[in-house]
Amino acid sequence: MNKIKAFILRRLPFLTNPEGPWPTVFRLMRESGKKHTLGYIIATVFMALVALTAALSAWILRDVVDQVFVDQDLAVLSGLVIAVIVISVVRGISLYGSTVTLTRVGNAIIAENQRRLFDHILGLGMNFFDRTHSSDLIAAMSVRAQAAGQLLNTILTSFVRDLLSVIGLVAVMIIQSPWMSLIVLVVGPIAIFGVNHLVRQMRNMAKMEFAGMTQIIASMQETAHGMRVVKAFNLESAMRTRMNQAIETVRQRGNRIGAIKAQTAPLMETLGGFAIAGVMLWAGYQTIYEGARPGAFVSFVAAILLAYEPAKRLANTRVAIERGVVGVQFIYSILDTKPTLDTNPDGPELKVERGDVTFRNVNFHYRKKTAVLTDFNFNAPAGKVTALVGPSGSGKSTIISLIERYYDVQSGTVTIDDQDISKVRLASLRDNLALVSQDTVIFETTVRENIRFGRPSATDEEVEEAAQNAMAHDFIMALKDGYDQELEDAGKSLSGGQRQRIAIARAMLRDAPIILLDEATSSLDSESENQVQIAFDRLMKGRTTIVIAHRLSTILSADQICVLVRGNVVESGRHAELIAAGKHYARLYYLQFEKHADDEAAALANEKVAALG
Ligand code: ADP
Repeated sequence: MNKIKAFILRRLPFLTNPEGPWPTVFRLMRESGKKHTLGYIIATVFMALVALTAALSAWILRDVVDQVFVDQDLAVLSGLVIAVIVISVVRGISLYGSTVTLTRVGNAIIAENQRRLFDHILGLGMNFFDRTHSSDLIAAMSVRAQAAGQLLNTILTSFVRDLLSVIGLVAVMIIQSPWMSLIVLVVGPIAIFGVNHLVRQMRNMAKMEFAGMTQIIASMQETAHGMRVVKAFNLESAMRTRMNQAIETVRQRGNRIGAIKAQTAPLMETLGGFAIAGVMLWAGYQTIYEGARPGAFVSFVAAILLAYEPAKRLANTRVAIERGVVGVQFIYSILDTKPTLDTNPDGPELKVERGDVTFRNVNFHYRKKTAVLTDFNFNAPAGKVTALVGPSGSGKSTIISLIERYYDVQSGTVTIDDQDISKVRLASLRDNLALVSQDTVIFETTVRENIRFGRPSATDEEVEEAAQNAMAHDFIMALKDGYDQELEDAGKSLSGGQRQRIAIARAMLRDAPIILLDEATSSLDSESENQVQIAFDRLMKGRTTIVIAHRLSTILSADQICVLVRGNVVESGRHAELIAAGKHYARLYYLQFEKHADDEAAALANEKVAALG
């Protein structure tokens, strides 16, 4: 078997040309098609019957014309009528059978690829999401997955149904009139050759069409997502211009692809006309001068007409394959992206007894040459609240991301209770962390399920208890369906404070020893503020908390404040100590919080800052 394969590949080098479509097609066959061999065999049988009935219906016309119309033989009429009925019934059933079977197989392949893609994407690290636009991922899951489902069907339909139909009909032609066939068989290949050279232009266009489509999705997504900002800043016309550009690009490319495709039709039509005219000339001459019977001629012309559609599709096959392959290649490029982060599935479990988080000599960058943390040392003591403050871009979120192990450090270690987090099983690390991020993520499901994401095994009672502790129970009960209320479109119907309390309830339910908190910068009304504050206090109690602090009350009550400047802890201590020191923190405090505070500390900070000039 392998020898045959090697022999074929040596003879047909284009099959392995990495620039061409075939390696992708073969991979799709191996990875998706193989499982559906039975479906393909059934479809092949049906399609062979379709081809056979096409040939039979052309072939039978000779007897119909010669025996019924010329000889006027009544006896054969009934036989021929029955034969025609049988042929068309078999043809109808086979067409139906092959279409249904192929559609099922195609849909199964689409579904498999969607599942596979999603699974794979879930396992990829944050760096993949940093560089991949979500609209590309949406396109991969939709139009490109569909292309994968259809590609093998297109190939099979072309090479079985259409090719066999053409072969069968050509056989009929040769049987009916070998000389006339010669004319057609000379013109046919010229047509096919003409079409093939159009394909090359097509491939690049199809790639660009996909890219343009993604641009449309991206613009739409951004507009819908940022509608408030779009309206607030009167960005409608700017967004319109961007969208119009994308739409225009897709339109123009669509037209060019259409034009290239349409070029194939006149080519085939003209050549078809020449062939039929040639055949007429020959057949007319034979009938008039040689006394040939007309049946063979009618049957012959019928065979040409019936062969026209399958031959046209066959000539277009490469175009269709090229189009499909672009989508499939994109899917494979995602599937071939290896996760850069080792999840240590067999690594030791992280055991948290105290919950001490330490960074030792950590060096980290997102992109080469722009170090974010250099020789960074930091400790968040167990059971205490550590507040991170500092100008934006100083690395606060990066610290949280590194503790979550969204990224791995380039050197140095991050440890929890002296266990290197890059060595333990990743899932066990995340089990011990609860994150409340700045923008609360609400999923499209009920309130109850939204909270339960904190710990999927939690009972309804536990969910409600967490909501109570997070000061969320009362407002949830006031919703129309209470805990069963469906939250749509990222919880837009809830207020900012309510969304935060759902996120806190989620973290509460998780009951993790280490809390990572990125406080929202947007201020809430004082009623909400109070409730969120109580909820946070309950959440942090007795747990190690690392908080990117934006609220005055948080930094005032923190056990330790770390001031970050350009990826370095330049100062740490409690609020009063740092104010007294009158350095970075005092300045920051003055800039950020002075307007909110009328306490002594603020006054002292004012003084210190004034003294600093
Ligand atoms: P902060 O939270 O203090 O505002 P960050 O930790 O978000 O600061 O950012 C620190 C630095 O890292 C900034 O210079 C920022 O531009 C860069 N940075 C943050 N996230 C990424 C990312 N995903 N890819 C590349 N650079 C990033």
